[in-house]
Amino acid sequence: MGRIRCAFALAVALAVVAATARAQQAAHHWAIVLHGGAGVIERANMDPKTEAVYRAALTEAIEAGAKVLDKGGSSLDAVEAAIRILEDDPHFNAGRGAVFTAEGRNELDSAIMDGATLKAGAVAGVTRTRHPISLARAVMDKSPHVMLIGAGADSFAAEVGLEQVDPSFFFTERQWQALVRQLKKEGRPIPPRPAGAPPEPVVPVAAMEPPDTHKWGTVGVVALDKQGNIAAGTSTGGVGGKRWGRVGDSPIIGAGTYASNQSCAVSATGTGEYFIRLGVAREVCNLVLFKGMPLQQAADEVIHKELEALHGDGGIIAITPDGQMAWSYNTPGMFRARQVEGGKIEVGIYRDEP
Ligand code: ASP
Repeated sequence: MGRIRCAFALAVALAVVAATARAQQAAHHWAIVLHGGAGVIERANMDPKTEAVYRAALTEAIEAGAKVLDKGGSSLDAVEAAIRILEDDPHFNAGRGAVFTAEGRNELDSAIMDGATLKAGAVAGVTRTRHPISLARAVMDKSPHVMLIGAGADSFAAEVGLEQVDPSFFFTERQWQALVRQLKKEGRPIPPRPAGAPPEPVVPVAAMEPPDTHKWGTVGVVALDKQGNIAAGTSTGGVGGKRWGRVGDSPIIGAGTYASNQSCAVSATGTGEYFIRLGVAREVCNLVLFKGMPLQQAADEVIHKELEALHGDGGIIAITPDGQMAWSYNTPGMFRARQVEGGKIEVGIYRDEP
């Protein structure tokens, strides 16, 4: 009799635990925020057609992430899915469409971080892996390391079966012409047109490509899944005309990318040197964690006070496990979008938008 009572009590206890877990799970509404770079992005230098192209691209990427989250997928998977779309889109400075180094190469940096476990993966100076964000994910999931660089990172990508491409895959006429203009202006030597690039067009590039109105175009995503876990990821070609194996903040954990379920997930964009010096992503999360600041306040504190004090420029997107979302930037504009479960997709470019 005693044993039956005991078994009954145990069954009741288990049912209560399961119901509590279900209730907790249901308490998390998924949410996702992304950026496509910050910079001198103003209405005056953006024609309606180009603007529509950017809005559509941001929408497509957020939809890809939202689809994962809506099905109950992880924030990590959502971040990766959305960034892969932007890496393939030639309008952004990540994957195809990346800026060129002074030697005429595309050297790609990326990072991803899991807020639930504090696991992270990062790569820098990659030249052959089609999706650097997936390589960062593989570094996190399939290697004992956090960061790999250059040819070694690409060969690890090939080993784990990630798509390898000829470096010319990343070439875009728009970025090539931007490099040529920059190097001419700075009186630096212009490297030969990269091997494998299409022949120089007869029509001037300005007439066929969107104007080069913004300096950046790095992409980043932060997400919260139904399980209550957050993640962050960033992917970039870095800054145009970079030299000497320069690496920016994007793949530096704590600078351009950070995620912890204890505080927040952040992805940054802007002049990376300042973001590294301030440890921007971790700094925002520390204000949330140790000072109990609301996320938006923490984001504004770092961007409008700390970054500006150093005369740095750029912006961030951020999210917390309790569903707060923020963006903050001190440039004229930032490509951005967000969505919460059951809500509409919001896309913004200029400062006067919400
Ligand atoms: N933060 C990137 C870097 O410095 C560039 C960017 O966000 O546009 O590499």
